[in-house]
Amino acid sequence: AKESGRNTYAMYRPEMQAASDARLEMEKALHHATENKLFELYYQPQNNAEGELIGAEALLRWRDADKGFISPAEFIPLAEEIGLIVDIGTWVLDEALSQVATWLEQGKWQPSWRMSINVSPIQFQQASFLPTLKAQLEKHHVPASCVDLEITENTLLNDWATSLTKMQAIKDLGVYLSIDDFGTGYSSLKYLKSLPIDRLKIDQSFVRDLLTDHSDEAIVHAVIAMAKALKINVLAEGVETLPHFDRLKECECFFYQGYYFGRPAPADQFIASFVHDSPD
Ligand code: C2E
Ligand code: CA
Ligand code: CA
Ligand code: CA
Repeated sequence: AKESGRNTYAMYRPEMQAASDARLEMEKALHHATENKLFELYYQPQNNAEGELIGAEALLRWRDADKGFISPAEFIPLAEEIGLIVDIGTWVLDEALSQVATWLEQGKWQPSWRMSINVSPIQFQQASFLPTLKAQLEKHHVPASCVDLEITENTLLNDWATSLTKMQAIKDLGVYLSIDDFGTGYSSLKYLKSLPIDRLKIDQSFVRDLLTDHSDEAIVHAVIAMAKALKINVLAEGVETLPHFDRLKECECFFYQGYYFGRPAPADQFIASFVHDSPD
């Protein structure tokens, strides 16, 4: 075994060794962060065509002592690979619902607003997902109608029948369901009509070049028209400028999220920047 180990080892170049050392180090740090809950949630506003707040998306942040902020785009795939995503996802659910409960109590969160929470395909496919969701709702006494789960198209690929049953059970609780990054995955349009989905989030890659790329504009139009026919809401992601917002309004998009309305912010800053005191 030692022999073959050495032979395998010899195939690596030094820079590959450095890359795998860095990865191992990151794995260790992620284990440590998960065990000690060293994460934070940021919140990004979601708005309607009038510019009014309709909810927020909870976005995970990991600040490593040495490396500073590490992007979720980087560490979520790693967490999925090394089996930490279920624990992390449960923490996210717990933290986001605890935050909504606090804000509801303080009168800072309207009961009609929704907190969007990202759910990894691996997390969704766990048998424990539904019981965990129910337990979290009960623990925090948060109305199910305040919660929106964002799942991706690829979540549904694995086991269609089981996924559909689970989605229906989530809907029966009163929790909303959104398809995240819509247009980038592999879901078939045929399936869309049989899914208990409340909202499609048009991926920001289609929104970015909306003003200059005619095919992106055509796609956005088509998605909105199709969603309307299926009685599904549409939220456009990555709305960065007023011209983007204006064009999307012309397309009769329902809801909007992006830097134009506000960047993800820590809880206190989210309230200070985006929630205006209403007279009680
Ligand atoms: P996502 O779910 O598509 O989240 C939207 C991403 O776009 C966020 O990046 C957000 O900060 C960014 N964004 C928002 N508005 C704009 C805009 O106007 N322009 C541009 N260029 N970007 C904008 P973030 O926070 O870095 O998250 C990246 C991805 O990591 C998320 O993409 C999601 O897939 C994943 N993620 C984040 N939090 C969680 C979580 O709690 N659980 C899971 N499973 N995944 C998460
Ligand atoms: Ca907190
Ligand atoms: Ca999302
Ligand atoms: Ca997205």
